[in-house]
Amino acid sequence: MVESPSLTRREYNYLLAHRVDDLVRAAPVTSLAAIFAALALSVILIERPIALLVTAWLALVIITNLARLFLPQLIDETQTESVRARHLWRGHELCGHANSFLFAIGLPLFLRDAGGLEAAFAFLVIGGMLGTNLLTAKAAPQVTRTFVVLVTLGGSAAAFLVGEGIGLPMAVVLFAQAGIMMRVIATQEAGFLRRVDREFDQRDSEETVRLLLQDYEEYSADRQWTADRDGKLRAVTPRFAQAAGREPEALEAMPLCELFIPGSERDRLEQYLARGESFRNLNLHLEVGGTRRTWSLSGRTLEDGRVTGFARDVTELRRSKEKLAQLSHLDGLTGLANRRLFIRTLQHLVKTGEVKRGIAVFHLDFDDFKLVNDTLGHRTGDRLINEMGKRLASHCRKGDMVARLGADEFAILLRGTASERVLVDQSQALLANLREPIDLDDREFRLSACLGIARCPGEACDASEVLRQADLALNAAKKRGRGSVAVYEKALDEAVRERRQIEVDLRGAISRNEMEVHYQPVIDLDSGRVTGHEALLRWQHPQYGEILPGRFIPVAEETGAISALGEWILSEALHEVAGWNGNTRIAINLSPRQLRGANLVQTIKRALASSGIAPGRLELEVTEGALLQNSEANRAVLIKLRELGIRIALDDFGTGCSSLGHLRNFPFDKIKIDRCFVHDVVEQADSQAIIAAVTRLAAALGMRTTAEGVERIDQLEMLRKLGCDEAQGFVIARPVEASRLNDDEAQLALPAPLPAQIIDYRKIRKAAQRKTQEKRERTIRRA
Ligand code: C2E
Ligand code: CA
Ligand code: CA
Repeated sequence: MVESPSLTRREYNYLLAHRVDDLVRAAPVTSLAAIFAALALSVILIERPIALLVTAWLALVIITNLARLFLPQLIDETQTESVRARHLWRGHELCGHANSFLFAIGLPLFLRDAGGLEAAFAFLVIGGMLGTNLLTAKAAPQVTRTFVVLVTLGGSAAAFLVGEGIGLPMAVVLFAQAGIMMRVIATQEAGFLRRVDREFDQRDSEETVRLLLQDYEEYSADRQWTADRDGKLRAVTPRFAQAAGREPEALEAMPLCELFIPGSERDRLEQYLARGESFRNLNLHLEVGGTRRTWSLSGRTLEDGRVTGFARDVTELRRSKEKLAQLSHLDGLTGLANRRLFIRTLQHLVKTGEVKRGIAVFHLDFDDFKLVNDTLGHRTGDRLINEMGKRLASHCRKGDMVARLGADEFAILLRGTASERVLVDQSQALLANLREPIDLDDREFRLSACLGIARCPGEACDASEVLRQADLALNAAKKRGRGSVAVYEKALDEAVRERRQIEVDLRGAISRNEMEVHYQPVIDLDSGRVTGHEALLRWQHPQYGEILPGRFIPVAEETGAISALGEWILSEALHEVAGWNGNTRIAINLSPRQLRGANLVQTIKRALASSGIAPGRLELEVTEGALLQNSEANRAVLIKLRELGIRIALDDFGTGCSSLGHLRNFPFDKIKIDRCFVHDVVEQADSQAIIAAVTRLAAALGMRTTAEGVERIDQLEMLRKLGCDEAQGFVIARPVEASRLNDDEAQLALPAPLPAQIIDYRKIRKAAQRKTQEKRERTIRRA
């Protein structure tokens, strides 16, 4: 028997044990039958000259069959059951085949000289021996088959050798018998396998049930209990008693209800028991070993009035459920309330009318926090947020609620009827607290935040509306700059509406010819000459009149309309400047989104080619923000543009997240110092110090500096002293459309000591005016 892949090792061993059992049981009959047959044959042949050979053969047959008979005794008893079974099986196989072989050669060898009667007797014996072998058919079919085949062949050969006319009839009889035996063997074998199969199934299901029962007993949280018709515990199981933390004897005959701590659920249990009603999942509390536990109890009334059921300890389950519920309301990082809990609380206050006593919401957001995450990594970002959360919580009064609404977004719910003034003071103190330096891993960090305030207008308050207003106020604060505070006011709604309007109207503004380009000159502070102009967009809105870019550029940035606008101003300005005398520069602003656009370089190349402007006359102004977001890709684009010969200027230097380090990161041609430094440059020593530092650094790095927003002559003088190369501002000229470059005489009212630039500027404007005039005439003629 071979181990089949369809049988598991366990099944194989089981089958083998069965077969060996059968074989051991059949061995006495088969072995003795073989010995008897061999003896009988030897007796017939003992007188022959081959007597010695016959005796030797007989001895071999006897040894073989005795060995088969005493196999169990011959095999080492200390071996495991399965190994013993294997050895027994192999021994039987060996003995069986040896026996078959001995008879197959013995029969023709010894019977060929036998007389007719002797032969007939011999065949009778052989027939009987074959028959007894059927006993092993079901356990060892293969061995039996071999025996039948070999004995039949040997017997037939012997019959033919005997001659005397019995050869053929004898062979026919032997073959017929063999045929019948083969069928019997097959049937027996099939029957045996079926029986074993059934046993396997039965054993399997018994095993499963046993395992399940064991599992249930050992691990199930359910403990069975029974109470009599008076509700007293009866036949208390050790498991039930153990769960209750008492001895079974102590619980026996104790009223079930007394096990539990009094309460409404226990009252219900009492009622169910009294009425003999079934119940399910009653949550009851009890003291077990000094701790309070909760059981879920189910019970069913039996026909004889007893009640039986299960008790399940659900203490841990309830605890983890509570924890889960709590977690889903708390922010994982800071442990503060999350947005859901914050809104729920707000809704609750509205529902219960508590808002009438006054409520305010602070909504705050850290400035440029994305940058912190991008440059320092999220781990540091998380630690900073956590610290900020702690500061916020410690700053709040009892009864206020601090929540983290999102990444770096927090909200505070304040109760009371504080005036707007008080709330603003309070929020400013809060922001000042947040600005205090934070020490992390021996490094010092400083964060600032913007804050929006909204108040609940008494009874008519809606939770989501307050939040929306606080959000609007926050946006307004952000527009005012870092660290600002804003209070919600109706005008903000108006601003939102207007913003939406702008978004819609912006879509067709270019095609409706509502966009214009205004030009503002930039002068050299040494010579006073105009070195170039900055092109600035203007939108002539049919409803709102002239809209400055500060209002629509951010919207265009957000919606993506900036690409078309950028392309338009580039082409328009380059073509305009192409008509001017001289070769002054033209500066055009690039927004971060334009820089990220796929074909900016191509667009610029095309505009330069079609206008005929040399790349060296074009100056593109980018802000530091463009360098920080997506910095590598943006840098690559800027480098490509620079390789074309285009100049790159860093705009608004000193605002946002300025750092002198950025100057080293990219080879700018020019730095435009923001007007916030220029504004108080005469009065403020620190502004002077900053500008002086920037101009010195720029000179060292081979960059030029332009001061923006110069409104007074004294500023111009100071900037020249501080080392600025160029200036731009209302004191020199306001941005105007090309055709009006010469019209506004007020712009020329520049007193000495800068007479040269006025002359120069006049010359240029005169030429420009001439060109524009010609263009106008051409247009009119064409029309
Ligand atoms: P910017 O690039 O800093 O442009 C200079 C701004 O300062 C202009 O505002 C200009 O009118 C104003 N300005 C010039 N001299 C003075 C002065 O002496 N005092 C004061 N108070 N302001 C002065 P404008 O035209 O309103 O543009 C605002 C911003 O809009 C620009 O700031 C620029 O960032 C953006 N922008 C304008 N046109 C475009 C454009 O075509 N594309 C892009 N992407 N942005 C543009
Ligand atoms: Ca600019
Ligand atoms: Ca600027």
